[in-house]
Amino acid sequence: MAGEILRSVCPYDCPDTCGLMVEVVEGRTIRVSGDPEHPFTRGALCPKMNHYERTVHSPLRLTSPLRRIGPKGSGQFRPLSWEEAIRGIADRWKEIIAKNGAEAILPYSYAGTMGLVQRNSGHPFFYRLGASRLDRTICAPAKEAGWKAVMGNTMAPHPDELAFSDLVVLWGINALATNIHQLHAVREAKKKGAQVWLVDTYETPTAGIADRTFVVRPASDGALALGIMHILARENLLDDKFLSASVQGFDELKSKILPEMTPEKVSSFTGLPPEKIQFMARAFGKAKAPFIRIGAGLSRYGNGGMNVRSIVCLPALVGAWRKKGGGAFVGTSTAGAFAMAEITREDFMAGETRIVNMNQLGHALNHLDNPPLKSLYVYHSNPASITPDQNQVLKGLAREDLFTVVHERFMTDTARYADVVLPSTSSLEHSDIYRAYGNYCIQQVKAVVPPVGQSKSNWEVFSLLAQAMGFPEPFFSQRAEDLIRHVLSIPAPLRKGIDEEAFSAGKAVELSLPEGYKTQYKTPSGKIEILTPKEAHPLPRHLPPYGGQEPYLLMTAPSLYALNSSFREREDLRQQDKSMSLQMNPGDAGEKGFQDGERVTAFNDRGEASFILQVTPKVPAGVVVAAGVWWLEHCPGRRSVNALTSQRLTDMGRGSTLYDNTVDVRREP
Ligand code: SF4
Repeated sequence: MAGEILRSVCPYDCPDTCGLMVEVVEGRTIRVSGDPEHPFTRGALCPKMNHYERTVHSPLRLTSPLRRIGPKGSGQFRPLSWEEAIRGIADRWKEIIAKNGAEAILPYSYAGTMGLVQRNSGHPFFYRLGASRLDRTICAPAKEAGWKAVMGNTMAPHPDELAFSDLVVLWGINALATNIHQLHAVREAKKKGAQVWLVDTYETPTAGIADRTFVVRPASDGALALGIMHILARENLLDDKFLSASVQGFDELKSKILPEMTPEKVSSFTGLPPEKIQFMARAFGKAKAPFIRIGAGLSRYGNGGMNVRSIVCLPALVGAWRKKGGGAFVGTSTAGAFAMAEITREDFMAGETRIVNMNQLGHALNHLDNPPLKSLYVYHSNPASITPDQNQVLKGLAREDLFTVVHERFMTDTARYADVVLPSTSSLEHSDIYRAYGNYCIQQVKAVVPPVGQSKSNWEVFSLLAQAMGFPEPFFSQRAEDLIRHVLSIPAPLRKGIDEEAFSAGKAVELSLPEGYKTQYKTPSGKIEILTPKEAHPLPRHLPPYGGQEPYLLMTAPSLYALNSSFREREDLRQQDKSMSLQMNPGDAGEKGFQDGERVTAFNDRGEASFILQVTPKVPAGVVVAAGVWWLEHCPGRRSVNALTSQRLTDMGRGSTLYDNTVDVRREP
């Protein structure tokens, strides 16, 4: 039977934010496909979302609130009513607040849904409660900080502009896994004769699209950028006119930093032969409009912010910004499209409360004092899987005196440790507004199917909790749709001139980019700032990463069939990934006497995790690659990859250093 076709959006943490066409029959999603009218994603979906109906109507969905009846982590629960669940949470929080203060409560969330209202529903509630605040920096704040150091609040180029480039550099981005729709413009550029390069730490699947792949040592990306700049300066492949009119600090960079960054020196950091570095610099310097698409991974090292900052300087040296198709792209900043303060309501906070960095949850749960954490409320996130230093996180979650509430769609690793589990709606079951961070589209959507079982959205649960806690503000008693309407009633320059009719009908529309935005540098000097006086290092320079004692650098790479720990509920997608594998170079495997397909343990001083070994020449010597974050129940051993990652933070932006860890590997008996 043919169903009704309704529009929606992919809610996951991906720059593309695809438009969806959802076929619904009798309140059930039967098919999900891409929206051909979406200006950027053009009707295509990645393999993860092609059968989203299998996630939405999965038999594994949680359908009623649950109370723990077994040891923490055992996954033993019994159902309870919503009324009992909300009353129980509020009563426990009132006790904790009376004894330890509200800062003993910590919310934990990230980007399980990117919808602006549902994602941020907890902010007003926890501000009003006076809880500890979460520094939400697990993804790539160092990338943003690196961009900002050079470009300030300058708007990123439209990502489709890449189609007009004659040299496309995909730098540290496995676009096939994480930004598949950007490849449309890459292919367009190729058709017109552009060269496409991939710079990465191993030969990712995206190498298949590139004309050349440059495999560099992890965390040496910034050094490579400085090495290219050294040659551009030495061989006078510079746009002097642009540098003197629009760039601050190139002379200082040229005299103080670049002389040291010779091809030989840079070769020692990157592992690339000096001739290859020279080749890259000459090709970049001679290209008419080079365009660099910078990924997030290279910002997840101890020197991640500096890596991005150094790369972002490159287009300025050759004047690429003033040419169609030239420039660099780390992501779009469309925060100004909606009045976010009306959603997050920071004004509900009576006074400053302490901030806990989400990457250091393990430390916070086990060691924080004055007051110690007594309750954790997790929503649309799975910290037991995704947070670094998994052993410390699990040790904290196992604390009997920690009252943990998890609002989720599935019985995740974190939910297993909860005292109370609340069933959550999927994105097809609630209304929201979305803005992309890899393009300039916005979209508003309504629920297309009713909630599965007794599940409720973030917004609904925080409304109930606010009522139970006795918050009198009318804000908490409105519906999500009321807040959406209010936010949309507030004009924003970025939304001026959008196709209102299409937007109201639920279609994706593009924000209006101001004329000449690409060369309006929103920095303190009004120029591109290679020299940034307020930074700890006023000039870009080579900084070493943290590294470690063990012999192999561990890359925690993305999987094509999962997004962090999302989609692991789907057996069909897990089968595509086959198993939790560790990729290793044949030379390294040979030295250890390892065989392809055998079980090995990777370990360091934080923990160990079992993997199925995959021997491949695509990974260079000295590097091992673990793709995807697996749920513990699907791991070959007792831990997943984050048992090996650390709580250390990046040089800029207080981000995660998920790529900056070393391991040794041994055969399992
Ligand atoms: S995960 Fe990304 S590419 Fe895949 S459907 Fe969602 S937005 Fe599109």
